This record gives sequence, structure tokens and C-alpha cells, in this order.
Amino acid sequence: MSSFFDLSDEERMIQQTAREFADSEIAPVAGQNDAEGRFPKDIIAKLSELGFMGMLIPEKYGGSALGNLCLVLALEEINRVCASTGVTMSVHNSLATSPIIKFGSDYVKETYLPRLATGELLGAYALSEAEAGSDAASLKCRAVKDGDNFVVNGTKSWVTTGANADLYVVMLRTDPEQRASGISSFVVERDTPGLSVGKKEDKLGLRASSTTELVFEDCRIPAKNMLGEEGQGFKIAMATLDGGRIGIGTQAVGIAQACLDASVSYAKEREQFGKKIGEFQAIQWKIADMATGINAARLMVYRAARLRDEDVPHTKEAAMAKLFASEMANRAAREAVQIHGGAGYLKDFPVERYYRDARITEIYEGTSEVQRIVISRAYLGG
Ligand SMILES: Cc1cc2nc3c(=O)[nH]c(=O)nc-3n(C[C@H](O)[C@H](O)[C@H](O)COP(=O)(O)OP(=O)(O)OC[C@H]3O[C@@H](n4cnc5c(N)ncnc54)[C@H](O)[C@@H]3O)c2cc1C
Repeated sequence: MSSFFDLSDEERMIQQTAREFADSEIAPVAGQNDAEGRFPKDIIAKLSELGFMGMLIPEKYGGSALGNLCLVLALEEINRVCASTGVTMSVHNSLATSPIIKFGSDYVKETYLPRLATGELLGAYALSEAEAGSDAASLKCRAVKDGDNFVVNGTKSWVTTGANADLYVVMLRTDPEQRASGISSFVVERDTPGLSVGKKEDKLGLRASSTTELVFEDCRIPAKNMLGEEGQGFKIAMATLDGGRIGIGTQAVGIAQACLDASVSYAKEREQFGKKIGEFQAIQWKIADMATGINAARLMVYRAARLRDEDVPHTKEAAMAKLFASEMANRAAREAVQIHGGAGYLKDFPVERYYRDARITEIYEGTSEVQRIVISRAYLGG
């Protein structure tokens, strides 16, 4: 599948391990988990045993320190069979462990990374609020310093894994006089008094992933749980999203690959007018376009991941990979349903789930419009 890219033996082994695990352990239950809205807790536990929940964490904290390219290789395989499991793994690694690794004090790293690496703690990321989505710097959830603590009040929205996570990286307003520079990041444990999981969203796709509010009511967070310095939270959030966007681009590649695989199988079996539908040029061209888009998007996410591993600026490349891959995946999902005809509209075939799951990749971790703003800014400034 990836022979066009120069992968090391270790990278191929990670990819192969993820592929076999995805096919044997996740694929058989993905449709049922989606139908029942069941969070795949047991699968996440097995992913932890494989070391897939600590892929960015340094070895001294118990992680495998394999890096972003290996993470992408594993994530594609997981997302190919279940995007709900894929986003849980992506958020945990890219959005929860990554800012702790990069911006956590020794205390924060020692306290949380070993347990995040083993999967004992599951991580989530809370930036968005009901009135602060694309304009995340306008967030209002307030943290007021009180001795060795910050007292937090307000509600975060749309938290992936919200109902299941043990720990959240949360962006809070510490200075109402400032905009982006009035925001700070904190690591918050789920059991902290004053923190509760709010409304659980009922979604079009990713139905086996929980998306919830987090409600803070006079919740006291230790000041030592701050990431970086006071006022750096928005920068930390954006630097974190550079990695997250590579993960979502990868999710899109995985979903699109699943669409292609299902479409090829169906086109080789389904007969109309006395021929396999794959013998019609209209179907052949759809397959050719899907395969071409997937190959291009895969190269873009690999490259962005490599740049991140090399600590080279990659904001633009991550945004491009996410933008291109997510739009490509939505076209692929649309064509996969089309190739299946009426069958594609039924829950009996997995392309119906792929179609619903693909949609979110153009929305979260920055909409396609926001990615275009980020990319154009790299050329035009502003
Ligand atoms: C399933 C799901 C999971 C999520 N998980 C998380 C999570 O774990 N953590 C988290 O913090 N957030 C999460 N989010 C939130 C997500 O990142 C936001 O929904 C997203 O950033 C868009 O914000 P919004 O929904 O408020 O839309 P809005 O910002 O209100 O945008 C509405 C429309 O206006 C467009 N628009 C807005 N501003 C501009 C502009 N300047 N120029 C052009 N167009 C513009 C947008 O592109 C969009 O088309 C999740 C969302 C969903 C649906």
C-alpha cells in the first residue's frame, strides 16, 4: 500500500501490526459499535498494550517515542476500519500527550506521561466553546488565580472522548483584558471536584466516539498543572493542532482507502447489463480518481509528519494535508456510495458509515475554510 514512500523496516512493521490488529480486532465490531453508539473501551485497552497510545511519549516516561510518521502509519490502518476508534487514538496521542511532552513542567510530565503511555489514563483536548469555534481565541471559560490554584467556571463544548477521558488538556481565559495572549493551558483530571461531563452530542457520524461538554463550577485546578507560562495557552493550542491536523488528514486517508477497497470489491462482483459494473468506464474512472487522490493525500500527511518529527515548521503543510485529504475523502465516500447504488444507502454495507464518518474531517480541528486561511496566510501574510 505504501511502497512508493521510503519507509524503514521499523515503520513497515508498525504499519503491518496496526493493519493486522485493525482487520482482526476492530473491523468485526466497528459496525455494531457505530450502530449502538458504544465507545470501544476494550479496543483502546488493546491499542494501549500494543504501545499505540504512547507513540509520541519519550521512553524515559514509558512511551515508545516512535514519532509522528509511525503514528500516521498506525492511525491510517485504524481509521480504515473504524474512524471512531481512530479519532480516540489520534486525540489521545496528538492533542493530549503532545502538548504535555512539549510544554509540560517536569512535575506534569512525571505525573501524567507514564500513565498516558500505558493507557491507564485516556486523554482529551478542550479548546472549543459554544460561542468560540473557528474563532477559538474568543473563548470565555474563566480561570481566576487563587493562591496555589486557579478557580474555573464555564463550559467547554465538543470535547472528543469527553465522557471517557481521564484527563483533559483545557484552554482557559486567565486574563479577560487580552485576547489570544489572555489564554492559558492546563492539564485537568476528570475527578477534580467541580468538573462534570455535560451534554453528550447525538452525531451524524463517529457514533462510537463520545463528544461532550465539560462543565466547570468553582473547579479548583492546581496552578502547577499549567502547561508553559501563563498567557501562552493559545500558542500551545495552535502548535498542538498542527499535529492534530496531520492526524485528521490521516483519518481522511484511512476512510478513503476503505471506500476504495469496498468499491473495488463491489465493482468486481456486481453485474448489470450482463457485465461486471467494473467493466463500465464510468465506474473505472471513479476508481482511478479515488486511488489517485488517496495516493496524493497519503504523501502529504507523511511529509507533514516527517517535518514535525524533524522539528521543522509545518503549520502550512499540516493544514494543506488536512484540507486536501478531508475534501478528497468526502469525494471518495460519495463515489463509494454511488458505485454501490441503492446498496450503498443501506446500513448493510459499510460505505454508508464511511460516508457519515468522512464528513467530520472537513469540520473539526479547523474547518476547510479555516485551513485555507492558515495556508493563504503563509503566502500573503496577515
Ligand atoms: C464531532 C466533533 C468533535 C469535536 N472535537 C473537538 C475536540 O475534541 N476539542 C475541541 O476543542 N473542539 C472539538 N470540536 C469542535 C470543532 O473544532 C469546531 O466545531 C470547529 O472548529 C468549527 O467551529 P464551530 O462549530 O463553532 O463553527 P463556526 O466557527 O461557527 O463556523 C461556521 C461556518 O463558518 C465558517 N467560518 C467561520 N469563520 C470563518 C472565517 N473567518 N472565514 C470563512 N469562513 C468562516 C466555518 O468554516 C463554518 O463553515 C469538535 C466538533 C465536532 C463536530
